Amino acid sequence: AAKKLGRNRWQFYHDAMNEQTEERLRIEGALRSALERNEFVLHYQPQVDLASGRIVGMEALLRWQHPELGMVPPQRFIGLAEETGLIVPIGAWVLRTACAQAKAWNDMWELCGLAPLRVAVNLSARQFAQPDLVASIAAVLDDTGLPAACLDLELTESLFVDDVAQALDLLHQLKALGVALSIDDFGTGYSSFSSLRTFPIDVLKIDRSFVADIASDADEAAIVVSIIALAHNLKLRVIAEGVESTAQLEFLRAHGCDEMQGYHFSRPVPAEEFGKMIRSGRSLAAELRREPAPEP
Ligand code: C2E
Ligand code: MG
Ligand code: MG
Ligand code: MG
Repeated sequence: AAKKLGRNRWQFYHDAMNEQTEERLRIEGALRSALERNEFVLHYQPQVDLASGRIVGMEALLRWQHPELGMVPPQRFIGLAEETGLIVPIGAWVLRTACAQAKAWNDMWELCGLAPLRVAVNLSARQFAQPDLVASIAAVLDDTGLPAACLDLELTESLFVDDVAQALDLLHQLKALGVALSIDDFGTGYSSFSSLRTFPIDVLKIDRSFVADIASDADEAAIVVSIIALAHNLKLRVIAEGVESTAQLEFLRAHGCDEMQGYHFSRPVPAEEFGKMIRSGRSLAAELRREPAPEP
């Protein structure tokens, strides 16, 4: 009986494994053709300046518009795209599309007397390891006509731990193009204070896990206040991610955080909707004025 049970168990794992492998192969094949079939889209989430209340930029976030599965969020496929290396052509598409879109918007808004916005693009470790990364970014800026100062590259802390000398060289080359460099999900990775001192970073993005409880948890609040102070002491801009409530917003404003991004202001939205948001002059200042005064 034990033997039979063992066999069944093995059969069970075996089937589960096959199912997993099949699922992976299926997604991998679908990912491969998704680029050709134009199934990727970018959504844009506004980045809001906390002092002025104005939208000053947007993060481009990838979605997969799958014919059967519908809108697939990046967590479902970015990992596999990274493992298979498909993130390289996909990331190249993201960069080009986001820069072209930002350029088109900025041209339009300039006619309306509005200041140009920055666009933030996420770079994966795999892209970072491509020998032609700097040249390909330069080519995208050149082709689209987006000023380098309007592009913000979001990197994660994991990029800084492997080969420090090489990473440093690459970051300096990227800086020489004139783009801004951000550390995404700051606080969740492995970067040390010395890496912040060493690397030519412009922006820290506080991970939303720290922002979640700032209004209710004194320890979380202390961490966020410390990150803001650290960023400012190092002359970096600081952006809070995942701001979902007025209480979080007020806390961040009171503690001098520069910018925020989060559902409280807007979820990531399709390009058309983002365009409308800008044209309508939507701002945090206007929204706060409309909100009833808090109870004393
Ligand atoms: P991320 O770069 O840290 O992007 C922020 C994520 O937080 C986005 O999830 C965004 O929708 C979500 N978010 C924004 N505000 C809030 C909020 O108030 N509450 C909550 N709960 N979430 C909020 P999304 O779009 O699902 O992207 C997830 C991750 O996938 C990104 O995290 C990024 O690491 C990766 N990703 C997205 N697009 C790309 C891309 O084009 N290339 C690469 N390499 N990675 C990407
Ligand atoms: Mg990001
Ligand atoms: Mg993040
Ligand atoms: Mg992330």
